[in-house]
Amino acid sequence: MRVLLVEDDEPVAESLRRGLMRYGFEVAWVSTGSAALSHSDPYDVVLLDLGLPDTDGLDVCKALRERGDVPIIVISARSDETDRVVGLELGADDYVSKPFGVREVIARIRAVMRRIQPRTPAAAAAEAGPDRYGDRLTIDRKAARVRLDGAEVALAPKEYDLLAFLTEEPGALMSREQIMEAVWDANWFGPTKTLDVHVAALRRKLAGAITIEAVRGVGFRLEIVNAGRDAS
Ligand code: CA
Repeated sequence: MRVLLVEDDEPVAESLRRGLMRYGFEVAWVSTGSAALSHSDPYDVVLLDLGLPDTDGLDVCKALRERGDVPIIVISARSDETDRVVGLELGADDYVSKPFGVREVIARIRAVMRRIQPRTPAAAAAEAGPDRYGDRLTIDRKAARVRLDGAEVALAPKEYDLLAFLTEEPGALMSREQIMEAVWDANWFGPTKTLDVHVAALRRKLAGAITIEAVRGVGFRLEIVNAGRDAS
């Protein structure tokens, strides 16, 4: 997914850009309103700061909206409720106040993209119920409930968050840094023993339904166990 990031604060822009790229987003970064409006490469979503050096971000928001329906997420240090309301009235799809974590921004992007995508009745029905992983495991993301063979599994809040994160993309190798940032919402440079403890708990509580492989020096990979296939 291609993100147009409009932000004049270089450290903020740089950390957001790096964070988004770690999650697989392509990021084009501009630092003025006029550069945003003259940006010609296609993009799927705009992250728009309101406090820009050359023009008010709200005017940029309005101009972008007049041109088309690309989703716009306003990011702003202004915590003023008026700005939020005006931004939304001018056609922004969502609003994130500074300071924010990369994880929060990604969650907003995903939510906005889900809202604008036309949903088939089948997709809507599937979304209403819990997500199924293999024959044994279901995760109800709305209720934050996990079931193994139909019986609810008691997970600590961070165990649930870790499972929810790793099951977003089964089979993908996630680095310790990505996991710490997503689940503990922290840039983590120290020891990550707490992560190992939580992985061990998930392995124990969900044994037979998932595996979590440790990849030395990198991170972890969650796989769904398919009983049908393994029974051979
Ligand atoms: Ca700014």
